[in-house]
Amino acid sequence: MKKIGILGSTGSIGTQTIDVIKKDKESYKVIFISGHRNIELLNKQCLEFNPEYVVITDYESYNKAKTMNFDATLLYGMDEILNLINKERIDILLNALVGNIGLLPTYAAVKNNVTLALANKESLVTAGHIVMKEVYNNNSVILPVDSEHSAIFQSLQGDDISSVEKLILTASGGPFRTLSKNEISNKKAYEALKHPNWDMGRKISIDSATLVNKGLEVIEAKWLFDIVPENIEVVVHPQSVIHSLVQYKDSSIIAQMGRPDMRLPIHYALNYPDRKPINLERFDFMKFNQLTFEEPRRDAFPGLDLAYHSIKKGDSFPTIYNTVNEVMVHHYLREKIKFYDITDTIEKELMNHRRIINPTIEDIIALDEEIRKRLG
Ligand code: NDP
Ligand code: MG
Repeated sequence: MKKIGILGSTGSIGTQTIDVIKKDKESYKVIFISGHRNIELLNKQCLEFNPEYVVITDYESYNKAKTMNFDATLLYGMDEILNLINKERIDILLNALVGNIGLLPTYAAVKNNVTLALANKESLVTAGHIVMKEVYNNNSVILPVDSEHSAIFQSLQGDDISSVEKLILTASGGPFRTLSKNEISNKKAYEALKHPNWDMGRKISIDSATLVNKGLEVIEAKWLFDIVPENIEVVVHPQSVIHSLVQYKDSSIIAQMGRPDMRLPIHYALNYPDRKPINLERFDFMKFNQLTFEEPRRDAFPGLDLAYHSIKKGDSFPTIYNTVNEVMVHHYLREKIKFYDITDTIEKELMNHRRIINPTIEDIIALDEEIRKRLG
């Protein structure tokens, strides 16, 4: 039985993880779950899985939860999450927090040799150099949950990264893939939230519309697979059936495909290296009888090239890319800014940024706070 901790169990990835566990209840013991505001759902998950601890990171919600008769030890805040990672001897931590807030749990897991199933790509984007150093020093393991990285990880099984020519990340292109820049510029958040293939949290849905999500994933892939960004290519594949590909030096391409369903990469990460059976709908070739590929429209979606730019600059630049995006997406969701203000502001902030050489975790947190204060 695997002992598991789930951070962000109330979110899109969190609830799909719960669903995967439900399908194979005897194989897992849920030790702790965390949520921010959705205490009703936390309570329901608690009744079903009987975790030992429930951590709530929003103070008001925590106080409300105390009156609700939770059948678990209720804890408040990030420090308690970090304590549980350090002390509870879990077999696997699933980090499905959204945004930069996921950084410290990722760091704590790799430092304490806790196997990390990572959905929270932002933590690798902002601090990949620190996180991966801890992975190498402590022999820790990160198993990708992001579907593209899971696909690459699966396509690399048995082969060494030295035999790889390039990684090819597929992108759906998002809901505005075929629109003109003019049309896109007036699109509101509720339209951007309608993703053609995936039902995801609000932040990543906007990131998919701007293609910043693919930018974040290029940086995530650089760190996870130890490959230079020049050898990471992005191809738009609107059907989201081929989840990503590895091109080897002998010209062979190995890809992973399947229905767009995050429960598969979650299940794979939770059970790696085993491929356990799971009751998910099977792929129907006749439903997807045309797979197409396009170049990303780099002019209409400048978020992609800004990611390459920031990772090539290195040091503190990816933190600027990541945090400025997070703050701007927050404003866009509240209809305070327009669609292109997101990537225009990222570009401006990258241009004006004064490099912090080899930033520490403390430097990254301070820079993140400074940006939030100034742009928030
Ligand atoms: P959601 O917004 O659906 O869920 C986020 C989770 O984090 C919720 O449990 C939420 O709690 C919690 N949370 C929100 N704010 C805070 C905070 N300040 N402190 C602590 N916890 C907080 O996000 P997703 O599940 O879509 O995404 C999670 C991560 O997975 C992201 O990094 C995303 O990029 C990545 N990912 C997501 C995919 C998807 O299909 N959704 C695909 C690939 C990667 P509550 O709801 O209780 O308020
Ligand atoms: Mg992805």
